[in-house]
Amino acid sequence: ATPLSVMVGTGKGARAGILIRSAEALETAHKLDTVVLDKTGTITAGKPVLTDVHPISGFDRTALLQLVAGAEADSEHPLAQAIVTGVRDRGLRPPMATGFDSVTGKGVQATVDGRAVLVGTARLLNDAGIDTAALTPVAADLSAEGKTPVLAAVDGRPAGVLAVADTLKADSATAITALEHLGVDVVMLTGDDARTAAAIAAQVGIGRVLAEVLPEHKADEIRRLQGEGRCVGMVGDGINDAPALAAADVGLAIGTGTDVAIEAADITLISGSLGGVVTAIRLSRATMRNIR
Ligand code: ADP
Ligand code: MG
Repeated sequence: ATPLSVMVGTGKGARAGILIRSAEALETAHKLDTVVLDKTGTITAGKPVLTDVHPISGFDRTALLQLVAGAEADSEHPLAQAIVTGVRDRGLRPPMATGFDSVTGKGVQATVDGRAVLVGTARLLNDAGIDTAALTPVAADLSAEGKTPVLAAVDGRPAGVLAVADTLKADSATAITALEHLGVDVVMLTGDDARTAAAIAAQVGIGRVLAEVLPEHKADEIRRLQGEGRCVGMVGDGINDAPALAAADVGLAIGTGTDVAIEAADITLISGSLGGVVTAIRLSRATMRNIR
């Protein structure tokens, strides 16, 4: 495109709350045939709330809440913050933990009140040699509702399942429909549980879901789609999304997300609404039409 048409397009974008970092991004966006959306904080509001607490039979409910919150207190993950807040709201005070360690994309471990506590995905517990069969049915019911199940083990034994739920952003479903109308395939990419992801995808009309993807593998999924000959846009908000945003043909960061994501992206959607993705593609198409 000519420098003038790029200036005009960039200016229109800025007025619509879409910050375009380079002429190349504005020029490439019209070719996008696939848009990959992170789930938490991108399709959903990213403000999860503790909704369910299911101790295993015989395990004290208060003890479960205390131990889990103690282990999560040092984690910066939004799920951890939801759990700690939810436990405090129930009038409990999380005890101090020692030996805290976070396992990226899986959960946390710590010693709380002298007990070894593991909190996170089934994979986290299984990796530690813990049989999660007693927790699986409850976790499956919660994820079928679109909630994220959080499994807990204490001293090497399953102790219970908590659930955390997030709300959809108001215009996510509308924006996804608009992308499909533009002829763009929409894919969800998330580290979250496969059933939870499928339930959320169904609510917003996304047919293709890549779930339980570890943070270090998100960029590989982008490259795999590019290997299918696709021109791929990636939309994300988290530190975890930064490599995928950089790998995509056009990376779009949610403006309310982390600085790391914004720095890795080509375009920033100030309001954080997915409608910005639709506007960016339309703007790019209009810009490229004008110069031909
Ligand atoms: P997302 O792609 O949704 O941002 P992450 O890659 O950060 O998710 O995490 C993937 C999954 O790992 C979460 O959905 C959750 O099940 C589990 N997990 C990660 N961190 C924690 C934590 N601090 N506490 C409990 N579970 C966690
Ligand atoms: Mg996210």
